[in-house]
Amino acid sequence: MTPIFTCLQAVGARIDAAARAAAREPCSITLLAVSKTRPPEDIRTAFAAGQRAFGENYIQEGTEKVAALAGLGIEWHFIGALQSNKTAIVARDFDWVHGIDRLRIAERLSAQREARRPPLQVCLQVNVSGEAGKSGVAPEAVMALAKAVARLPRLTLRGLMCIPEPSADQVLLRRRFALLRQLRDALVVEGLALDTLSMGMSHDLEAAIAEGATIVRVGTAIFGAREKPAH
Ligand SMILES: *Cc1c(COP(=O)(O)O)cnc(C)c1O
Repeated sequence: MTPIFTCLQAVGARIDAAARAAAREPCSITLLAVSKTRPPEDIRTAFAAGQRAFGENYIQEGTEKVAALAGLGIEWHFIGALQSNKTAIVARDFDWVHGIDRLRIAERLSAQREARRPPLQVCLQVNVSGEAGKSGVAPEAVMALAKAVARLPRLTLRGLMCIPEPSADQVLLRRRFALLRQLRDALVVEGLALDTLSMGMSHDLEAAIAEGATIVRVGTAIFGAREKPAH
């Protein structure tokens, strides 16, 4: 057994335990394997172990892996910061985009998504920590952005995503994740059919699952510590 296989099993066990502790079905939580900085061989190994959804942060690296692994049937998620001059590549190569925080980016993705493909599945990134200079739409602005994005023809708005500031304080983390859930619930009341909360990473997935995460984005706990990327 490879280390990746063993780590995937361990992360799966953490998800199951956190789901049970929250009286939730483990199958209501999708594990997104964050493969940024990892070679295609690592993705093949995880795929052979049954992992199907993979997340990439960097356009050039991501598009190379999508090409190298074409035909396997991987579900590709773009989870990085997205500049408007790179939207065409993402609209072509990815199934999901998690980090949308501006209407202009969403409009470009919708215009560039080919009509014969399924709509791009998207989440809005929310700045739940209120840190200045961090990406993500402010909580007060989520409603207006969500309504505008939901109208775009080639996108399907699925929910919200956040990256809270790193913290060992479980109470603080729970509060950040709870805010994302409350914002999602408020959008549902307004008539938007949102089923996704993309929140929780290697160090905080238990807190995220306790607050309703439906996608946890996990890199280090599956593939090991990353070297600093040369980006
Ligand atoms: C890198 C990254 C992750 C995974 O982080 P780990 O701590 O390695 O699990 C999740 N989400 C986003 C947006 C990331 O950039």
